[in-house]
Amino acid sequence: MSLAENIQKVEENIAAAAREAGRDPGEITLVAATKVQTSDTIRAAIAAGVSICGENRVQEMTAHLADDAYAGAKLHFIGHLQTNKLKFVVGKVDLIESVGSEHLLDAIEAQAAKTGVVQDILIEVNVGGEESKSGIAPAEVPTLAEKAVSLPHVRLRGLMAIPPVAETEGANRPFFAEMRQLFVDIKAKLDDNKTDIDCLSMGMSRDYEDAVREGATLVRVGTALFGPRPPMGQPKA
Ligand SMILES: *Cc1c(COP(=O)(O)O)cnc(C)c1O
Repeated sequence: MSLAENIQKVEENIAAAAREAGRDPGEITLVAATKVQTSDTIRAAIAAGVSICGENRVQEMTAHLADDAYAGAKLHFIGHLQTNKLKFVVGKVDLIESVGSEHLLDAIEAQAAKTGVVQDILIEVNVGGEESKSGIAPAEVPTLAEKAVSLPHVRLRGLMAIPPVAETEGANRPFFAEMRQLFVDIKAKLDDNKTDIDCLSMGMSRDYEDAVREGATLVRVGTALFGPRPPMGQPKA
């Protein structure tokens, strides 16, 4: 199938899962995870209807920005972020989805203050409690969220999670449900004007339909749109 057909298929699946759960499909936006893709492929995805691109790697993103590859779409940063690279990200992307520590939150606030912007962010939650994953523990979310809301140069928009790789179909639904509850709780507690905290980012190629059934508003999909990626660290052939 072509890229355009893949995008259409994933959008249809999102809409079907939403309806099944009694949700309005318009509440969910597909984020195309564009790591290792070329600027031309990114442009083709946007031409075929992708409205948000999600990038993992600062260097690739900076090159694509120089190419103006994201024109016509929004840009999210979804990968692991080192504080020494923040100047290439803060103020350059619409949303940083992967804020998984107080240290990173403070550094984003400092960089945003320095450049005179307010940076939209999500808190990344390590919902599966995996040692290898970044993100904060679910129990620490309320405290970090309160802190984020108190900072003048960041705007908390919600939560993001990358649950463990599901061994069987549906295995991640309890994690998605847990995320939804956390999201509902912080929104009730901290969303003063009831509009700021509106993003729950969860679900990837293997499980985005379950994520939608459990309340995702953003799903980050790469492989199901672009096909398999080469192993990490290798350039795309
Ligand atoms: C690569 C990536 C995705 C998409 O993964 P697929 O399994 O290819 O759909 C989603 N979220 C993050 C943070 C990623 O790095």
